[in-house]
Amino acid sequence: MPADFLKDVTKLAVEPFGIVGGVHYVGNSNVSAHLVETSEGHILMDTAFGRTVELLCHSITKLGFALTDIKLIIGTHGHEDHVGGHAEMKRRTGAQLLLGRGDVNTVEKGTPMTCAEHTYGLTDFATFAVDRPLDRGDIVLLGEKAFAVHSTPGHTPGTISLTWTERDEDGRERLVGAFGGPGAWTLGHEEQGYAAGPVEFGKSLEYLQTLPVEVWLGVHPGQNDTFGKYERLKAGEKPNPFIDPEGWKAFIRRIKEQHRERSGGSE
Ligand SMILES: [Zn+2]
Repeated sequence: MPADFLKDVTKLAVEPFGIVGGVHYVGNSNVSAHLVETSEGHILMDTAFGRTVELLCHSITKLGFALTDIKLIIGTHGHEDHVGGHAEMKRRTGAQLLLGRGDVNTVEKGTPMTCAEHTYGLTDFATFAVDRPLDRGDIVLLGEKAFAVHSTPGHTPGTISLTWTERDEDGRERLVGAFGGPGAWTLGHEEQGYAAGPVEFGKSLEYLQTLPVEVWLGVHPGQNDTFGKYERLKAGEKPNPFIDPEGWKAFIRRIKEQHRERSGGSE
């Protein structure tokens, strides 16, 4: 049985909006999805749930983008709430599907790890073939933009994080980034976790702390207070409230502390 909030997904609808440069929020009230414009078409980062694809498409077209201009769809990790819409979005856009190599097997098969039954009560994952598995150090190029792929396993084996550059309202270059899997709840979880997860998660956090991200995006909107920042942006706050390098550092620090407590202070 799906979780209560997934029974009527129309209630998850939120208005889409621009964040900074060519980055737009096209997710719902529970899960983020971001569309990034380039001169050669667009990249979609995560597609949220299979059952929220209509909301996603509505958000994209409401901003004036054509679905067929989406050339690449990247998944931050292979869980239903982030890549559940990939199969259907492939059909609607013809885009290439990209995912961290460590999660390829599970999304192609639709294993319990990827269905998110434990969290959302979903069992109907739409499997898909990954066109391009991503590895640490890969650079995804589209138009004038270069997306650096950071392998940050832990939440899942194939969790990736991304960074790239956008220009803000004043024409200054800003490093935009997203940590693809901050949830420590899978670590040590019988169905959702994997043996090396806790150690890899710790290493990923150490690494992420070194990235000088200025505009950080949540893979769920609560992580970076997406909607609070949007309200401030709408109210005319300057500089753009999404430019928040201290918030990024504090976010990683907070997860590190939680991880340390969970693992009994051993890391
Ligand atoms: Zn997840």
